[in-house]
Amino acid sequence: MNDLRKYLRILSYLKPYKWLVLLTVLSSLLVASSFAGAIGGILPAGDLLFGKFDLDAYRNLPFMNTEYGGALLNGIQSLLDRDKSDLLIMIVLVIVVLACLRAVFKFVQGYTAAYLANRIRMDIVVQLHDRIMNQSLSFFTQQGVGNTISVLNNDAALIQRGAVIILDKMVLEPLNITAALIIAFVLNPRLATIAVVGLPVFGYAVSQFGRRVKKNTRKSLRNTANILSLLQESLFGIKIIKSFVMENYERERFRAENGRLLKNTMRAVQARELMAPLVEIIAALAVALFILLGGRDVLSGKMSISGFLTFYAALGSVLNPLRTLSKAVGEIQASLAGAVRVFEFMDKLPGIKDPPDAADMPPIRGEVVFDHISFSYDGKNTVVNCVDFETRPGETIALVGFSGAGKTTLINLLLRFYDVSEGGIRIDGMDIRSVKQSSLRSQIGLVTQETILFNDTVANNISFGRRDYSREEIVEAAKAANAHEFIEELSDGYDTMIGERGMLLSGGQRQRLAIARTILKNPAIFVLDEATSSLDSKSESLIQEAIARLIKGRTTFVIAHRLSTIQNADKIVVLDKGHIEAVGPHASLYATSAIYRGLYDKQFLAPPEPVSVEVAKS
Ligand code: ADP
Repeated sequence: MNDLRKYLRILSYLKPYKWLVLLTVLSSLLVASSFAGAIGGILPAGDLLFGKFDLDAYRNLPFMNTEYGGALLNGIQSLLDRDKSDLLIMIVLVIVVLACLRAVFKFVQGYTAAYLANRIRMDIVVQLHDRIMNQSLSFFTQQGVGNTISVLNNDAALIQRGAVIILDKMVLEPLNITAALIIAFVLNPRLATIAVVGLPVFGYAVSQFGRRVKKNTRKSLRNTANILSLLQESLFGIKIIKSFVMENYERERFRAENGRLLKNTMRAVQARELMAPLVEIIAALAVALFILLGGRDVLSGKMSISGFLTFYAALGSVLNPLRTLSKAVGEIQASLAGAVRVFEFMDKLPGIKDPPDAADMPPIRGEVVFDHISFSYDGKNTVVNCVDFETRPGETIALVGFSGAGKTTLINLLLRFYDVSEGGIRIDGMDIRSVKQSSLRSQIGLVTQETILFNDTVANNISFGRRDYSREEIVEAAKAANAHEFIEELSDGYDTMIGERGMLLSGGQRQRLAIARTILKNPAIFVLDEATSSLDSKSESLIQEAIARLIKGRTTFVIAHRLSTIQNADKIVVLDKGHIEAVGPHASLYATSAIYRGLYDKQFLAPPEPVSVEVAKS
């Protein structure tokens, strides 16, 4: 019941299109009534043709006393007086016209229903995407990329299928059933009552199967999401997988999850497909019962042959929509499973929100204070423990420490990807939680080991799609980043498409594009996660030169992996297991801090590593 309420939320997306919904319902009504007209017409047409039409029986009906009723009776009388073969042609014509009208209404109804369903899928997906973009980083680590893609794609597609069925079948078929039942009642109330009493039994059986469909569809959607996550991991991590010769392990995991998907899908299919034979059996029983009882009525003269045939047609017209409906129930239950997941995603509140009165952060100078901050990703393990230091505008701070010491986490906190659990971070005296996140982040430039490039032109990758930069500014930034020369050599220069994830460029070129992008952004604070990999020395010096230009005049935090960086830093912060072990310039740290000495001797004086696993990751 709860799920159903969630499902009905789909209807709220139909609100902007209420006129189209009305058109769909109206055309459904017309389809149903032309259908009822065709069925209901069998009896009078049969009687007209085969001579037993008793016009007097209709004279006493209330409507017939009116002017129109009189005209109708006269019309019918003149029909009766005509030649029977003329009559036959007229009846055939009426049947054809009705069929054509029905075809037109059916088209309008089917088309509008499909448009509405596709339209609300689009609206839901766009809204969901909006919400996801506003989510804080923890959402993505919790939900996983594969799962998120799956919800946006597969689950939303199920909503669309369900909506088509609701708009198409769930309006039309009950109308058809009602029309057919009314005719059946007029013809033979006793038989019709039996049919109506049987309906709830039928409904119960169908709903039981429907629940199984929903349960198993929900499971199979989860499997689909897992498969996407696995694929994403293995395709992006293909270098690592190959270097560890893990192909078989990945193959097995992929196969196993697909096996589970198959099993759950087939369970849903089984429940859905079992409905059809069930409906057939009920239909056969209903027809048998009808022939038995109706046949007796005809034999005893209580019902005419035409009446029998009409009733038979009406009964058939109830059974067909019932078949369709039972199928629709299966589809809708599957769609419900998708809708529940989509709306769960939609309703997740972002972990990090702007306070209601948040103002834009004014242009900053770049004085940063980490004021006794502590942080934990999971609420249990403290990853940053009472970190306390500050920087003056324009200073360069090198963060050093063993892997897992908390360097990246500090940067995440500075960009407010996560909120500190204790203490506070202030920039130019403003707590970063008090200003709009967008205004904070737009003043911080970030260059990480993983350079994210889009499948777009070089120029657009540098300007990041912003149109307010002129080509001159973009070229200027590229020059400062030592990227101009290689860009000029590309086939279309700045308009060259660079392929998915920048695959067509070398690692060094990608980094220089990322630097150009940050130079163009011109942030007051610059954060650099230095590459652990060593590039060839020419590439390396080009990058170092570009970074030196970028650092000038900005407060810079570097997760340092290079000797030159720590030597040039104004301050070195040594992190160990989340707390600050020592702060200072190189010489004094080397004399006083055992950890720094160890790190320095091991990491910074060691010859550059050959291609390591971390390189493969980026
Ligand atoms: P560093 O950059 O110094 O190598 P990190 O800041 O990446 O270290 O990690 C510090 C600690 O936080 C590590 O123990 C790591 O396992 C943990 N950690 C990092 N990211 C997450 C996350 N998203 N969720 C939970 N724990 C995390």
